[in-house]
Amino acid sequence: MEKGHNNTTAKRYGMVIDLDKCTGCGGCMVACMQENNVPFKKDETDKTKSITWLRVYKLTNGKPYPHNDICYLPRPCQHCSGVGDHGHSPCVSVCPATATDYGMDTGIVSQIYTRCFGCRYCMAACPYHVRYFNWWDPVWPKGMEKYLSPNVSVRMRGIVEKCSFCFHRYQLAVDRAFYEGRKEIEEHEYQTACAQACPSKAITFGDLNNPKHAVYELKQNPNAFRLLERLHTNTKVYYVSSRSWVRMAG
Ligand code: SF4
Repeated sequence: MEKGHNNTTAKRYGMVIDLDKCTGCGGCMVACMQENNVPFKKDETDKTKSITWLRVYKLTNGKPYPHNDICYLPRPCQHCSGVGDHGHSPCVSVCPATATDYGMDTGIVSQIYTRCFGCRYCMAACPYHVRYFNWWDPVWPKGMEKYLSPNVSVRMRGIVEKCSFCFHRYQLAVDRAFYEGRKEIEEHEYQTACAQACPSKAITFGDLNNPKHAVYELKQNPNAFRLLERLHTNTKVYYVSSRSWVRMAG
């Protein structure tokens, strides 16, 4: 494994999403909302005010039948590392309240809701449009509050939120390992809800720095690419497609 900034063993959690396998079913979006207590709105057609931490986009090659082709692209927060892996992601760099933070030990960009005061600077800075502002306090259909994830905070009106790579699951896995006298967690012990829910196994999650994790090999696929790579955001979500027009679109 590679060494981290404080000479500790650095983890770099990330995803490889195989776009040739994704069928656009949206199961990952539903699993993400359920796991992370994301409320749905009465009118989800208002895309500027609805919240989905993970959104599946439909891309097309723009050609007429019979040469047309489509691709579905799931897009969570890309968990940018910035140039040189120093955690200078666009959103972290601009937050005046240090409400968004880069975990040097995991590479995960997290959001501390109680520090956020809703200036939305991070939303303007994020080139991937993966941050969402809460225009309302969450409302749950009667009885559904019993099904909320107990390990994830419910967010209030006036703050920004985004995908956390299900960080609460990482904390639970680390706690469990500690009580069992282990220092490291296994790959299967920390998986995101979207990766687990994907019926076509298009999403693989793990430590990009760990040769024992599947993502280590998968990210080296010659057909792998990252979104807006030219911005040097050094993201931790890799996409794989055998189709050149899909790779060009990224
Ligand atoms: Fe921040 Fe956007 Fe990068 Fe996620 S994708 S780390 S929200 S700049």
